Amino acid sequence: MFAKILIANRGEIACRVIRTARRLGIRTVAVYSDADAAALHVAMADGACRIGPAPARDSYLKIEAIIAAAQQSGAEAIHPGYGFLSENAAFAEACAAAGLVFIGPPPAAIRAMGDKSAAKALMETSGVPVVPGYHGAAQDDATLAAAARKIGFPVLIKASAGGGGKGMRIVEAEAGLAEAAASARREAKSAFGDDRLLVEKYLERPRHIEVQVFADRHGNAVHLFERDCSLQRRHQKVMEEAPAPGLAAEQRRGLGEAAVKAARAVGYEGAGTVEFIVDRGGRFYFMEMNTRLQVEHPVTEMITGKDPVEWPLVAAAGGRLKLRQDELVPRGHAFEARLYAEDPARDFLPATGRLHHLRFPQEGPHVRVDTGVRGGDAISIHYDPMIAKLIVWDDDRASALRRLRGALAACEVVGVTTNVAFLSAVAAHPAFAAAEIDTGFIARHRPALVPERGAPSDRVLAVAGLAVLLGRQAEAAAAAGASADPHSPWHLANGWRLNDDAFHVLRFRDGEAEVAVTAHFRRDGFVFDLAGGAMRARGTLASDGRLAADLDGARLAAGIVRRGDELTVFVDGAAHRLQLYDPLAAAETAEVTGGRMTAPMPGKVVDVRVTPGAKVKRGMPLLVLEAMKMEHTIAAPADGTVENVHYAVGDQVEEGAELIGFKAAESG
Ligand code: ADP
Repeated sequence: MFAKILIANRGEIACRVIRTARRLGIRTVAVYSDADAAALHVAMADGACRIGPAPARDSYLKIEAIIAAAQQSGAEAIHPGYGFLSENAAFAEACAAAGLVFIGPPPAAIRAMGDKSAAKALMETSGVPVVPGYHGAAQDDATLAAAARKIGFPVLIKASAGGGGKGMRIVEAEAGLAEAAASARREAKSAFGDDRLLVEKYLERPRHIEVQVFADRHGNAVHLFERDCSLQRRHQKVMEEAPAPGLAAEQRRGLGEAAVKAARAVGYEGAGTVEFIVDRGGRFYFMEMNTRLQVEHPVTEMITGKDPVEWPLVAAAGGRLKLRQDELVPRGHAFEARLYAEDPARDFLPATGRLHHLRFPQEGPHVRVDTGVRGGDAISIHYDPMIAKLIVWDDDRASALRRLRGALAACEVVGVTTNVAFLSAVAAHPAFAAAEIDTGFIARHRPALVPERGAPSDRVLAVAGLAVLLGRQAEAAAAAGASADPHSPWHLANGWRLNDDAFHVLRFRDGEAEVAVTAHFRRDGFVFDLAGGAMRARGTLASDGRLAADLDGARLAAGIVRRGDELTVFVDGAAHRLQLYDPLAAAETAEVTGGRMTAPMPGKVVDVRVTPGAKVKRGMPLLVLEAMKMEHTIAAPADGTVENVHYAVGDQVEEGAELIGFKAAESG
């Protein structure tokens, strides 16, 4: 086995590989870009090398820099993780040329599977069923149209070099074919530098089922059963499970055998995944093989007890696969939910920002959290916006699904928009519980999964009000303790809460809507006037933001994260963001106003709304920045005057660049 390996990746997969390597007694070297100098994977590894600036093409995709890092650190082998260079045959060859072991399949196997057309042709000759279609060399529109007619509409056009759903177009009828092909070619050319296309029968409501395989160079190959990855948005997976629900024993066996056949056909070594598409009649067809670990490998790990990170290390070191197919028996059921920084309400557009607060469920035999970030880290435009993977296991699907709901309810993220509520809605959907799943599930159930944002409930408002008032009392008590002056206003504030007749109006804003909550002070708590009537509320707020509340006699545990006048309330497994508008609160949270206003992330200036000298009110939009296909409005932090505007429309700005010089008005 190796003594030291370099991990040419970042985030949760780098952390994941480090954990397995450590268990096997292998030392690890991390690589990092400037954006990741303080990242978790760097902190976890035994050593680390800087490989370049933040953009992936200058760091994680830079073959020479990675090879040099491996040589300098004395690593014998390189683990590519997934994404980045993991399916790059030239990288695998460069490793070999530098005397380093590439932990993955031989370059020839990567090449054979990297081209969807060539892979389909090879599978056909190896007796693995493929989706009916055309994957020939001729690429003119007439040839594609003739093929589509023969297959029968609707058809799916795919980029031969494709991945990540890029270059895919559904074509319903011949009239739309030429245009779809042209746009698929453009997208494929720009994404892969290769505009060859293939045409396939478009299957209605199919399932995506894939099989994990392991192989060694001594001719041994096994499969580790299947995963159902049908739950997708934008042709990309968000939730996976193993085993695939509802498969008959002979279907399961057929899939496994076809996957092993596919792996053998390309002389595979290490861990790989053979992806199949399954039609409504239960027939399965080869789609592609991913010649690397997959994001969703943990569900296989949970049901087999085998570590998919360990076997490729053994195989790459020349070892033998000691497992026999008949010794592998799946146990129980596992789910994985991918927690992304993205906005389901905006077609799952990736989001960026700083993770001001991060809390995951307690890990144990039934729950696992794979992540590469910690509270305070940023989700940047440079890399994949995945925050964590929640993995759960139990004896059967229904129990595992209950675990998943519980794990999702325990997640708290403040600072970036996430898909947690969406994932919870999927996990709670009766059709999902009934395993009525196919690749159209999310689109079909979208209204139920991505609800319109409504006004905050009384329960949420009561929790928010309680948190604000308890927080204020704690501060008043602390200030009173610190002050020797008996006439200090803090003593007054403290006494004022004991006055039974006193009340106070809290104003919250939820998006555009404003809600006022009147709080009456009682000796042991408060009475809130809410839409549904009066509610008695009391509780204790710990310094870590955990609130133990009693609302009209019902106990409730909630989480509160407060940043200035922004309040995030975690109640009943959902996050609610409220803005507090309150004269008292404003006095407490007097912010830094004026001075520099900087770009929160690299981007392009798309709108400038002010000129130097402009007098502005707090919250007024000053400048709009576009980053990650999203617009970010830079607003005035306070009433004041714009002193300088440093950029014009069309300018590119770096993160931290000063956008606007600002002077806050003297507060009166
Ligand atoms: P990529 O490599 O770009 O991810 P894949 O070939 O793996 O593309 O397909 C991605 C997804 O697109 C599949 O999981 C499935 O949901 C859908 N898909 C692919 N081929 C077909 C098809 N022939 N009919 C219907 N849906 C398909």
